[in-house]
Amino acid sequence: MIVDKKYDAIVVGGGHNGLVAATYLAKAGKSVVLLESASELGGATTSVRPFPEYDARLSRYSYLVSLLPDQIVADLGINFKTLERSIASYTPYKKGGKDGGLLISQNWDARTAESFRELTGGDEEGKKWQEFYNEIAVLAERIAPYMLQPLKSAVDLKSEIGLPEVWKFMMERPIGEVIQDRFQDDLVRGVVLTDALIGTFTSAQDLQANRCFLYHLIGNGTGQWRVPQGGMGAFVTELNRVALLNGVEINLNSHVTDIDSSSDGVAVSTASGDKYVATDLLFAGAPQTLAKLRGKSAPLSLEGSQMKINMLLSRLPRLKSGLDPALAFAGTFHINETYSQLEKAYEVAKSGDIPSDLPLEMYCHTLTDPTILSPELSQRGFHTLTLFGLHTPAALFDADPSGAKEAAKAAAISSLNQYLADPIESVLAICSDGSLAIEAKSPIDLDADLGLPRGNIFHRDLDFPFLDGTESAPLNWGSETDDAHIYLAGAGARRGGGVSGIAGHNAAMAVLAKD
Ligand SMILES: Cc1cc2nc3c(=O)[nH]c(=O)nc-3n(C[C@H](O)[C@H](O)[C@H](O)COP(=O)(O)OP(=O)(O)OC[C@H]3O[C@@H](n4cnc5c(N)ncnc54)[C@H](O)[C@@H]3O)c2cc1C
Repeated sequence: MIVDKKYDAIVVGGGHNGLVAATYLAKAGKSVVLLESASELGGATTSVRPFPEYDARLSRYSYLVSLLPDQIVADLGINFKTLERSIASYTPYKKGGKDGGLLISQNWDARTAESFRELTGGDEEGKKWQEFYNEIAVLAERIAPYMLQPLKSAVDLKSEIGLPEVWKFMMERPIGEVIQDRFQDDLVRGVVLTDALIGTFTSAQDLQANRCFLYHLIGNGTGQWRVPQGGMGAFVTELNRVALLNGVEINLNSHVTDIDSSSDGVAVSTASGDKYVATDLLFAGAPQTLAKLRGKSAPLSLEGSQMKINMLLSRLPRLKSGLDPALAFAGTFHINETYSQLEKAYEVAKSGDIPSDLPLEMYCHTLTDPTILSPELSQRGFHTLTLFGLHTPAALFDADPSGAKEAAKAAAISSLNQYLADPIESVLAICSDGSLAIEAKSPIDLDADLGLPRGNIFHRDLDFPFLDGTESAPLNWGSETDDAHIYLAGAGARRGGGVSGIAGHNAAMAVLAKD
């Protein structure tokens, strides 16, 4: 089929950012076609039934929401809710031959203070924790609105935010140094550091860790990580609804293979031979893919470095520490993530081995939102567990992708089982073929399944949300490229990364600003 209609805009990529960009443009009266390679929308924000005989829809890739601004939800009119978790985190540990755990409530309370006391022997570390996060909370509140405005220079943004000390430790000094200065306890330091390493293969002493840390703490002005009600798929279902409602034409199974541009606009072709022309192109896949399609050299980036493991449980496992698992798994459950374990795992992975005592974090969606399970499974006490293993870079999987994946999965399970009274295998649901209800995704799988370059969950390295003078093309919204008709609308745009819709919003604003 040859399509010769001319659109105002072609959006390539039907992940959440592509849908957000397309809907903003359509709402402004533009004619928009969205082209998606896959047979379904969503990209890294999908829910699936990985174990078909069980009616359990798991968020297969991304699982928690923080960065999505309320403004985007309101502007687009989507009916999508995120739910607060009462527990922020739990970190089991062994001390003096005894099993314990650091339990941190979402809001500081007596139980949290007692838990810090048990771990550290006093109140000092807990006090420092509150001071540190209170300072960051003010930054989050002040910086969040800027994410949906044209970019500012570092100097201007710093002066408008007006928190020079916090700015310094968040943007200018390696976060590892800051954490070592402000906290004494190795485990407390590690719980803080984890947010700087999610999906980012770097040392605590590298400023790349600061960028990751910043994005994990400023989302929507609070930095709180919330549970998407109905799973990530519910978000995409709503985005699809409002896109269609506003007249976006959505074409699935449309893999874009060629992009041409002239002073009049753009033309793209798909693998099936269809051709589309438009004034502007908003590319909501990875910048590396866009560069390849345009015959340009791809921007350099770190590779992805995480294992994602999804599990369906017939019941929650008991913990060696004795804490009720319904409390322990309700927040983020950290395993082997002390500061020194994280730094050691990074060195081991860098030298080419899968780290033993693999650092990982987990959470149980169904403790906060049981709606992703059928009522029958809920009643029987089933739960889902999401595991995100750190410091497993794509390079470890190149030589033997399936063998290395099995080894990394085994390392994750053995790391977790160190703290469980019921080994995880004993509580996994059993599928009809006798296999256990567990699926693992390596960085190589993410590249193959979703087109995330080398499994990078943010498409490419995160940038600070301001202009720092190293830009190769003029950036106003963070979406512009060296071609006046081509924009980046996916996670790899400046201020993209994560489930936020910010890159989609900003690319649409860049296009509309030309009118
Ligand atoms: C395992 C995992 C866990 C994560 N956890 C979280 C989390 O809990 N919270 C969070 O905030 N973030 C998380 N992230 C990151 C977040 O999911 C992504 O950064 C974000 O979803 C990217 O959205 P996007 O719309 O920009 O791109 P994508 O979701 O990558 O979508 C891009 C789309 O473009 C399509 N495409 C690519 N090339 C072409 C082409 N040539 N033609 C047509 N279509 C094309 C792809 O098929 C894809 O559907 C996670 C990511 C992963 C992988």
